[in-house]
Amino acid sequence: MASNDKRDVRSGGGPVVRTTVAERVYEDIKERILDQTLKPGERLTVESLSRQVATSSSPIREALARLESEKLVVSRFYAGYSVAPTPEPAFLDGLLDFRALLEGHCALIGAPRRLPAIIQTMESAIVQMAKTKRLGTRYREYRRFIQEDARFHQAIVESSGNPAAISIYANLHAVLLQSRLYATRTPSDGSRAQQVFDEHGAILDAFRVGDGEAAERAIREHLEGGRRRLLSGPPGAPVPDAGGPSA
Ligand SMILES: [Zn+2]
Repeated sequence: MASNDKRDVRSGGGPVVRTTVAERVYEDIKERILDQTLKPGERLTVESLSRQVATSSSPIREALARLESEKLVVSRFYAGYSVAPTPEPAFLDGLLDFRALLEGHCALIGAPRRLPAIIQTMESAIVQMAKTKRLGTRYREYRRFIQEDARFHQAIVESSGNPAAISIYANLHAVLLQSRLYATRTPSDGSRAQQVFDEHGAILDAFRVGDGEAAERAIREHLEGGRRRLLSGPPGAPVPDAGGPSA
């Protein structure tokens, strides 16, 4: 699609955002996957998606490649693309362990550096997340929340200055992976979101004063809170509101 094929859209009453057709198509397919209009494991063909999204094949191919890099879509030789299976709770449990190790370690090293750019990113992510008062079960309702949550946690890892950790963490798409369970959770009255805000506030406070041990502790507590919110339901029950990506 030509790069000059742009239109103005308003997003949630915010400033006018310029968006390309490629971006709109990517967001459209992503929404269908996260809301499970396109089911986990469902085969995806360029032809059928072109019809559903009403666009040509080129932005569809671009979107599929991008969604594959985010682990929402998988591709196999001869079989083509399909929606990635929903991550198993055991996988997400292990992912939270790994996040606690990596993010905790990075905070221990990074918080004492008191880097203004990192602290500003964390502050701005918190401000943006606070615009979401109540977390629904649909992608449109939690999209901004998870994007900003991912930015907050990426900043923690970046505070370490460790290029390997920064790259590995960015490629994990941990927050997005966890949000695969949101379509089946029960809606919340906003109290879960408040827990996430409080936990993020404790992490930010530790970064502001440069206390690495407090920052590590606050991150571990936040991720444990995320584990409870995301994975604590009895087997077979709807997934409880994770108040955000879990963390
Ligand atoms: Zn978080």
